[in-house]
Amino acid sequence: MYHSVDRSKTAGMDEITAKVQSCTSCELHRTRDRVVLGAGSLDAKIVLVGEAPGRKEDESGLPFVGSAGKLLDKLLAAAGLTRDDVFIGNIIKCRPPKNRRPKKGEVSQCEGYMMEQLGVMRPEVIAPMGNSSLSYFQERFGLENQVIGDVHGQVFMIDTPWGRVKLFPLYHPAAAIYRRHLLGELEEDMKKLVGLAPL
Ligand code: URA
Repeated sequence: MYHSVDRSKTAGMDEITAKVQSCTSCELHRTRDRVVLGAGSLDAKIVLVGEAPGRKEDESGLPFVGSAGKLLDKLLAAAGLTRDDVFIGNIIKCRPPKNRRPKKGEVSQCEGYMMEQLGVMRPEVIAPMGNSSLSYFQERFGLENQVIGDVHGQVFMIDTPWGRVKLFPLYHPAAAIYRRHLLGELEEDMKKLVGLAPL
């Protein structure tokens, strides 16, 4: 599910995975089948961060395997990337029932895990996908709260514990399924994203 040439990174991620698997900090643990930690390369320069697992992700334990994931694969391929070139995760690790939006308290209980994961991977670019993920990073790094429609495709510099990092907001792929006019913008943004951290 994730891989690295650096064994300390896989060990770090294994430790976080074990913690999340036994996490009972919020109600979502009662209804989950599997936790979804994310997948891809721990050495990736680019980490994409969605909101929360849906039904297919809860069944498989893998991120973005439903219809939004299929579109994400196509967008990555059009930009010359595969899932193995990036890491794909979510702010929330357990599926909210009926795919409702995660509650504030659930985000605050879970967000530490994402920051721990990022601290292991130390990416150059973080791409929050959609408003939930974006607003988490805006709050965490003291950026003005702006919606994805206004800031997608722009670079924001953030100071993280591992150095200065580019935050690059993207529309959530699910948004482009229902609003096809967003697809072209998402395709353009995805190509810009690759340019920020060439392979
Ligand atoms: N939507 C998300 O935000 N994350 C997933 O893993 C799947 C769908």
